[in-house]
Amino acid sequence: MSCVTRGKKTDVACGDQVDIKRTDHSEGVVEHIHERRSLLYRSNAFRTKMLAANVTQIVIVLATTPSFYESLLNRCLIAAEAAGIQALIVLNKCDLADNSAALLQLANYSALGYRVQALSAKQDIAPLLPWLQGHVSVLVGQSGMGKSTIVNALLPDQGVRTQEVSAVLDSGKHTTTAAHLYHLNAESDLIDSPGLQEFGLHHLDVEQLEQAFIEFRPHLGKCRFNNCRHVHEPDCAIHAAVASGQIQQQRLDYFQELVRELGGA
Ligand code: GDP
Ligand code: ZN
Repeated sequence: MSCVTRGKKTDVACGDQVDIKRTDHSEGVVEHIHERRSLLYRSNAFRTKMLAANVTQIVIVLATTPSFYESLLNRCLIAAEAAGIQALIVLNKCDLADNSAALLQLANYSALGYRVQALSAKQDIAPLLPWLQGHVSVLVGQSGMGKSTIVNALLPDQGVRTQEVSAVLDSGKHTTTAAHLYHLNAESDLIDSPGLQEFGLHHLDVEQLEQAFIEFRPHLGKCRFNNCRHVHEPDCAIHAAVASGQIQQQRLDYFQELVRELGGA
């Protein structure tokens, strides 16, 4: 059913639970948006838009080849943590190339507690299924990693597409970047937004960013200065944790990069 909103069309995000009032057999009006358990954004330096609501898991699709940008992986993990959402890292195309180098690269992330699932979407999607069960998952990934292949393998019958609400509301027309929600089964949904490579982080301040680097958490509040940005300040607990091997230098570098980019420096 296609619905319009009473307020601004940008009030509703893909994945929202809404109460509607039917206006005729195929159309309705959104009367009420239920409280969201999470919200993900799409943004650039100029504007921030809602991307998807009520997501419980971000599935980050990487591949053995072509090589993936680790900075993008980090940004997706930060978006997940900031929104209070679980993250799953999928290493796709494991049939194509030796995956040991990529798995070694990802070992840092498993050590942080993120699940890494090897996959060959082209050969067998089954290893992914248990991780999607009971979740509202959103797929994200650089182009070429196999996101479309995964979506097609999960949804061989396009007839399962059930909700195009956000696409219609987004701009009054269907766009290729709109997010769609598909029911995988009674307990599991999949949100796909073609072209989605990363999430918006511009709504975050430095404190939220620090918290989103999960291994920073035990060290926060222990620097000499309580406004420490962990750059060159004396007695910085984050730098001490890097020196003792509890935090990877590279993750601190990603943190600094994001602070500069989001204008919090
Ligand atoms: P997207 O840009 O992330 O949507 O990537 P696609 O799904 O279009 O995949 C990019 C290319 O990788 C296509 O040629 C796919 O056939 C191929 N591909 C995707 N998954 C696999 C896989 O598991 N194994 C192999 N060998 N090729 C794959
Ligand atoms: Zn510090």
